[in-house]
Amino acid sequence: LFAAEVEFLKGVVAMDGLPPDDRPEVCFAGRSNVGKSSLINALTGRRQLARASNTPGRTQEINFFTTRGGPYLVDLPGYGYANAPLGVVEKWQRLLKDYLAGRATLRRAFVLVDTRHGIKPVDEEIMTLLDRSAVTFQVVMTKADKLTAAGCDKTLAQVREKLARHPAAYPEIVMTSSEKGQGLETLRALIAGIG
Ligand code: GDP
Repeated sequence: LFAAEVEFLKGVVAMDGLPPDDRPEVCFAGRSNVGKSSLINALTGRRQLARASNTPGRTQEINFFTTRGGPYLVDLPGYGYANAPLGVVEKWQRLLKDYLAGRATLRRAFVLVDTRHGIKPVDEEIMTLLDRSAVTFQVVMTKADKLTAAGCDKTLAQVREKLARHPAAYPEIVMTSSEKGQGLETLRALIAGIG
């Protein structure tokens, strides 16, 4: 995944706007501020590819990126944005549900979890949705540089315990830091393996 190989394709606000399902795809999900834009930018080596999605106006958009010869990268907007109007949240949840349940080419979801916070109730909700949609998901811990090794281990233990209750969860957890570059090669290899 090099910068030159990743292109923004489109932002989608409804199911009928989805690009043709002519290749595999992987999606990235996570709470607002989890570090999703930073991770996608670091992964692809591009600055500002995934713009900050922290504003309510952008909470409904699913952003598609193409990779050369590989899967679509799909940036699902951050959830759990406290100040989003209820109508916006409901519309977004509907689209998210329809997308996860109805996208046959969706091969894996990467669910981002902040290493400082661990799995929160909103993360559990999306994981349950993924279980029901039979979409294999893998937890990617973000901002690992913000904790000591012992702190990371503590969160990892909590995450493992919670994942055990999710049938769609892939057992391997990826620790990352966009800031330090930690885990990026692992993630790139996982994505390449899907394409
Ligand atoms: P998003 O809302 O999930 O797209 O989150 P952003 O990528 O905008 O990141 C939210 C905040 O966390 C920003 O202030 C980032 O600079 C910070 N951040 C993101 N990734 C890292 C990381 O790996 N390490 C550290 N220390 N901070 C990070």
